[in-house]
Amino acid sequence: MLTGSMKWIGIRTHPVVAGVRETGRTCTSLPMRPVSHETSYSNCPVSGNQLHPLRRCTRSLAAFTGSCKICRIRGTEVTFLGRVRLRRQDFESILRSTPLLRTHTCGELRSEHIGQRVTLCGWIDTSRDHGGTMFIDLRDRYGKTQCVANVDSGETSLEVAKKLRGEDVALISGVVSHRLEGKINAKLATGEIEIRADEVRLLNRCQTPPFFPNQDELPGEDLRLKYRYIDLRREAMQKTLVLRSKIIKGMRDYFAEHNFIDVETPILGRSTPEGARDYLVPSRVHWGHFFALPQSPQLYKQILMVAGYDRYIQVARCFRDEDLRADRQPEFTQLDLEMSFVDAEDIIKMIDGLMVTLAKDLLNIDLQTPLPRMTYDEAMRRFGSDAPDLRYGMEIVDCSDLAKQSEFRVFRGAVDANGFVRGLKIDARAEEFSRKRIDELTEFVKHDFAAKGLAWFRVEPDGSLWSPISKNVEPPVLDGLKARFEAKPGDLILLLADSWEVTCKGLNGLRRKLAAELKLYEPGQMHFSWVVEFPMFDHDSEENRWVATHHPFTAPRPKDLAKLRDEPAACRAQAYDLIINGYEAGGGTIRIHDSETQQVVFDLLGISPEMAVNRFGFLLDALRYGAPPHGGIALGIDRVVMLFGGLDNIRDCIAFPKTQRATDLMTEAPGEVESKQMKELHIQIETPPAKTK
Ligand code: ASP
Repeated sequence: MLTGSMKWIGIRTHPVVAGVRETGRTCTSLPMRPVSHETSYSNCPVSGNQLHPLRRCTRSLAAFTGSCKICRIRGTEVTFLGRVRLRRQDFESILRSTPLLRTHTCGELRSEHIGQRVTLCGWIDTSRDHGGTMFIDLRDRYGKTQCVANVDSGETSLEVAKKLRGEDVALISGVVSHRLEGKINAKLATGEIEIRADEVRLLNRCQTPPFFPNQDELPGEDLRLKYRYIDLRREAMQKTLVLRSKIIKGMRDYFAEHNFIDVETPILGRSTPEGARDYLVPSRVHWGHFFALPQSPQLYKQILMVAGYDRYIQVARCFRDEDLRADRQPEFTQLDLEMSFVDAEDIIKMIDGLMVTLAKDLLNIDLQTPLPRMTYDEAMRRFGSDAPDLRYGMEIVDCSDLAKQSEFRVFRGAVDANGFVRGLKIDARAEEFSRKRIDELTEFVKHDFAAKGLAWFRVEPDGSLWSPISKNVEPPVLDGLKARFEAKPGDLILLLADSWEVTCKGLNGLRRKLAAELKLYEPGQMHFSWVVEFPMFDHDSEENRWVATHHPFTAPRPKDLAKLRDEPAACRAQAYDLIINGYEAGGGTIRIHDSETQQVVFDLLGISPEMAVNRFGFLLDALRYGAPPHGGIALGIDRVVMLFGGLDNIRDCIAFPKTQRATDLMTEAPGEVESKQMKELHIQIETPPAKTK
């Protein structure tokens, strides 16, 4: 059947249109515009070839069988070639092999399309039977369109429509029409119109799914991750993935405009020094050797600078085998950037510009540059965090000097032990804090931050400070506290008396928790800022050694160079973190580019020359071959998406994320492998892993 020198390029059932064209050439898979009721000829939108209607539709598939004309179309000339006899099964097979001729998406049609005949494809979002008339909401990632099938749609179509169930895949053709008076749905972009279906085709059945993408209550996350393809059909997920794609495109466009080039660096490489645990990949070829998946492209991008590629970016996959938190993933994506002949100012400016562009294009927010900056020391002092949330105030107030004047054991004891008494004030809302609520806050700081307790004072209408402990605190100290906090009646003061670290962590925790509970910021509010000049080193008290705060290639501020050996704790780095709404959205540093300073830093970090050569000898070599001054930054794309999307779970920003236990519930990775594979890799599992649930 249908052999010869011509090819069918499509068939539509209502009205029946079959196009024929000469063999070969380019348009076999092009979508063919259906011939409307009015016209008997139509041109192929791509080739311009004329498509010839075989026969008028008589509404049911059975009617298409029988004798059909086959024509050759050349230009405007249509040559009758003969007739073929088509059986029902021929038609069905043609229909199956017909390209899916979607003329529009399910989110596209508006009142200006009224009167046009269209074809939509998608998933059945809902279908309702109103006394023999079927109302079907067809959904794709662009939106939903209401389609109506009734007796006018033809027997077969109505039959098919009646059997459609949620998440079946269907094709619906028909004429775009006005919805009936009173039936307009202003909430839906396509809410003014509906499709009066004249063809309803089931493209594929959906088994009863474990949940429906449109159900009100979100199913448990494990189920969503296992059936991710259904979860990804949810509008919220689609919105986030589209936002993600726009953010990445925005980044690439911005950097391309600024003359950056995109260079890919290896996934199979050597362990990188970001300080987390590596994911290792055994080498089959080299017995006992391992690749490490990159924790970041750090070393490669520095080497690209040595190689003269002065503006590099990459949307880079990074892997860190860390214990996971809600905003961390073992496998994540970062916008990785490196520039030569720059200082911190240049990098910050470049990222300021990117944030202005993304905020404007995606959130319609006008950011003022330069974005606000504060040093690490100031951030810790005022907010107890190196990533302060600046959408609201509630700054930390230090009262250690006042506490020193008191005989009250809790206050005095803390300062005598070189600790601090610092606190927060909640303005005018003391009455919202019952004893029970304050007890809960106390438990929170004790449990989450190992604080010894939480002292609190309520400012009474007469201006006095009341608390179960107020009788233990001398009146001048109480007056001092009140003045220090500029407290007014109705305010509540919360104090921690502890080490610097505990007061920082505890008050930062309290500040964030209270701001969320008291709604101290608007839902869509965004705040961008920088924290700069981080310490070069952290002291690991357990191992009694210095560790690099960022990574060992970070340059100190020029004025701290001289102190490097003798006062490492006082050295500050040329480091900068971008903070959005209290999250570190990115971080980077200016690098050390001379091997002498590098050696001093390695010495301090306890990295012997042999270890250094062994771990990153290639970088040290490269630094000796004409390395330009350089620096860079990496922005966490997953996190930026989370923040721009107003979300709080990083897994919602990734198409196929891992669980908090670092597994993929859909593919069940990590999984066991064949013993043959293990043998090839020269690997033996010594003890069977303990059974995990
Ligand atoms: N490599 C660093 C990171 O991934 C970023 C940088 O210093 O550029 O955090």
